[in-house]
Amino acid sequence: GAWMEGEPLKVESLPDNPKDHVQKPVRKKRRLRLMEVCGTHTMSIFRHGIPSVLPRGIELLSGPGCPVCVTAQQDIDAFVELALQKNVIVTTFGDLMRVPGRSSSLQQEKAGGREVRIVYSVFDALKTAQQNPDREIVFCAVGFETTIPTVAAAILMADEQQIENFSIHCAHKITPPALAALMETPEVSIDGFLLPGHVSVITGTDGYKEVFQRYQVPSVIAGFEPVDILRGIYMLVLQNHSGYPLLENAYERAVSKEGNPKARQMMAQVFDTVDAVWRGIGTIPLSGMVLKEKYIHFDALKKFDISPVETPEPAGCACGEILMGLKTPLQCALYGKKCTPVHPVGPCMVSSEGACAAHYKYMV
Ligand code: SF4
Repeated sequence: GAWMEGEPLKVESLPDNPKDHVQKPVRKKRRLRLMEVCGTHTMSIFRHGIPSVLPRGIELLSGPGCPVCVTAQQDIDAFVELALQKNVIVTTFGDLMRVPGRSSSLQQEKAGGREVRIVYSVFDALKTAQQNPDREIVFCAVGFETTIPTVAAAILMADEQQIENFSIHCAHKITPPALAALMETPEVSIDGFLLPGHVSVITGTDGYKEVFQRYQVPSVIAGFEPVDILRGIYMLVLQNHSGYPLLENAYERAVSKEGNPKARQMMAQVFDTVDAVWRGIGTIPLSGMVLKEKYIHFDALKKFDISPVETPEPAGCACGEILMGLKTPLQCALYGKKCTPVHPVGPCMVSSEGACAAHYKYMV
């Protein structure tokens, strides 16, 4: 039957826990707040109507898992600034095009005659550089552990082939420090993390060990099919019910304990880990990537002598709070009124992986 406010969640079985075979009293009588931290999860959850089949006692939140949404305003402005440089062709993933910067977007600059091209991979950008030796090609590098190794591979290739008219502005981010930053924020309350499948292929289960050990939040790596997500949610409910948080892998067919050490080694070869600014969250220690000194000639900001300027987020946009699980899209006063997919105010409505866009597309 449906879960009623104030009732303990009923589950059919508990994991065989040698520590305690006696059912413990349920600690939480409020709603369970479970957060996914992956844009693909966001889309899949909404596309398959998962919120509508869950009992009322479970609330799903979209955390900082959409690469475009977490990109700081200052990085968006830097991408736009790069498009304004002489002789430059900016190459980007499509979702970044319409994110409003301080004074314009990549799309507006393209409409105004600047060269901005959509690419599907960093290697398309590299090819553009080879095909246009008299132009400067800049790639807008956003994305998590899933994307970073590919960009690292492209930098290594550009270096080996001495492709000098290619550079990147690196706004890459890594996932585990963001989970830690959320747990360190007093007003944030999360009863479980549904961890990202693709990112975990690279990090492995071990990638989250440190954060899990420090904060002891129920954590389950999940795949993207509706059954994968439901299984992940179920495991998080069981953990909450038993009172024993665990770091579990519900995506065994793709994710191993060690992940992909070769990809991580390539990341480490090209990039150093540095503090990075996330939209809404602010600076998170050791959560971003910067090109190593050896590859600094591929740094677009250095090449064109641009320094990122801190800019406020669009007025009234609650993207930052949404990414931290403090608000839902419906709690943003602009949602569906001033802010729609056709006229987006913030990145959470631009990116198809953003919580506001997914909510708008599937819930309205
Ligand atoms: Fe920002 Fe628009 Fe989402 Fe509101 S609805 S949080 S303005 S993206």
